[in-house]
Amino acid sequence: MLKSKNCYAKMGKDIDVERLFKMKKCEYCAKEISYFEQYCSDECQEKANKYYEMCEKYGKIFSVINAICVFGIPIGIFLFPFTKVIGTVIASLSCVILGIMLVLLPFPTENMISKQKIHKATKLTRIIGVCVIGIGFLIFGFMFFYFK
Ligand SMILES: [Zn+2]
Repeated sequence: MLKSKNCYAKMGKDIDVERLFKMKKCEYCAKEISYFEQYCSDECQEKANKYYEMCEKYGKIFSVINAICVFGIPIGIFLFPFTKVIGTVIASLSCVILGIMLVLLPFPTENMISKQKIHKATKLTRIIGVCVIGIGFLIFGFMFFYFK
């Protein structure tokens, strides 16, 4: 009984130390940092600032194109049974434009940034962008295959 109590006490102490020194993560690269810092280095702070500047500059354009393309994909799929060519062109073009934009302007969601921090989240967004471009070409290719 006494032994386990000691064990808990030790564990609690360890957690407290960890909390003090490694609870926070660098806002840019997610490296563990002390509670009092926001970034692990000046380089990360600079990169984060650049990212936020880009968000401010292109955030609005991003949301507009994002909304159009995200609506364009189901609209294209919806039109497909009526006009196959227009349906596929709208769906695939929406995918390709959305994908290109995600590669050029990799703005992840707030949730992604808080979980993975800027560096990893933007990288992931770019990968998603490449996949979306691929899906767009796949839809386009499917149309050619379909009408052969
Ligand atoms: Zn960092």
